[in-house]
Amino acid sequence: MELLKQLSETPGIPSREEPIRNVISAELAPLVTAMEVDALGNLIAYRKGNGGPKVMIAAHMDQIGFMARHVDDNGFIRLQPVGGFDPRTLVAQRVRVHGEEELSGVLMPATKPTHLLDDAERGKSLKLDDLFVDVGIAGERVKELVPLGTPITFDRTCNDLGEVMVGPAMDDRVSVYVMIEAVRGLTEHQAEVYAVASSQEEVGLRGATVAAFGVEPDIGLALDSTLAVDIPGGTDVDRVSKLGDGTAIKIMDSSLICDPRLVAHSRKICEAEDIPYQMEILPRGGTDGGAIQRTRDGVPSITISTPTRYVHTVNEMVNKQDVQATVDLVRRFIETAHEIDLSWS
Ligand SMILES: [Zn+2]
Repeated sequence: MELLKQLSETPGIPSREEPIRNVISAELAPLVTAMEVDALGNLIAYRKGNGGPKVMIAAHMDQIGFMARHVDDNGFIRLQPVGGFDPRTLVAQRVRVHGEEELSGVLMPATKPTHLLDDAERGKSLKLDDLFVDVGIAGERVKELVPLGTPITFDRTCNDLGEVMVGPAMDDRVSVYVMIEAVRGLTEHQAEVYAVASSQEEVGLRGATVAAFGVEPDIGLALDSTLAVDIPGGTDVDRVSKLGDGTAIKIMDSSLICDPRLVAHSRKICEAEDIPYQMEILPRGGTDGGAIQRTRDGVPSITISTPTRYVHTVNEMVNKQDVQATVDLVRRFIETAHEIDLSWS
């Protein structure tokens, strides 16, 4: 899982995916026939098959983060989010500011120290606009080093806790890992495989939209994190998925209803190969599958998910066996893609 750790810790906010793209491209290069980067920064890796259907796999490589929106005279940096955050999870985090030089900083709320707060101030809810980054150097120097638009990401490592891995950007680097390992493990396949590390998913599935238009796939297979709300504060109804119960075959989310023939095919693979799996409905949240499905005259598409706790925080947690189950399902999906009957009965 060294590769997963590296993927988790390498920065890449939407539109500034170059550091993570370079890591992925180095891993995929020996496994594929050709590779290109398109206009929106999608990495499209093609692996030759034997005349089978064109299968586009998409795992988004961008992560939620910030751009520097304003630097004041004292050097405090205000933030433009790229992707969705709950401000309550951000207070007192450490960040990396990827400007002219990389700087370390702290993310703090614009408020008085706790000693000086009265009850009313203490109870106030926090907004993203209340937060700023302090890199601890003089204002003029910060202005030089941190031009507007500078990417800012969390300064967190990815840790192996035994059964689980926890780190930043597991959404969706865990799926990038799954995609790489599935391609690495491929035996014979007729499908023409397009493994796409997509850009700008977190701001609205933008990379996958154009990548799918270019690839023109017969089948779309998106890979993403899904919520595992199997924690205090969650209920059985809203659980979505459970950590440790296997890969998650998506039925629908708010961007797509997965093609029922691909859902059935995925289930059949898991049953036949003894791959632990769970079925998933995500009431809110989209995936690249939604973009691929609506390309040109339509593409049968599905999303396969890896259950993840604490999505969109710095402590995104995945279970190693779920990750392996997802790798196994995706690999078999590609190897059997030519058997899928896509006629309507
Ligand atoms: Zn995601």
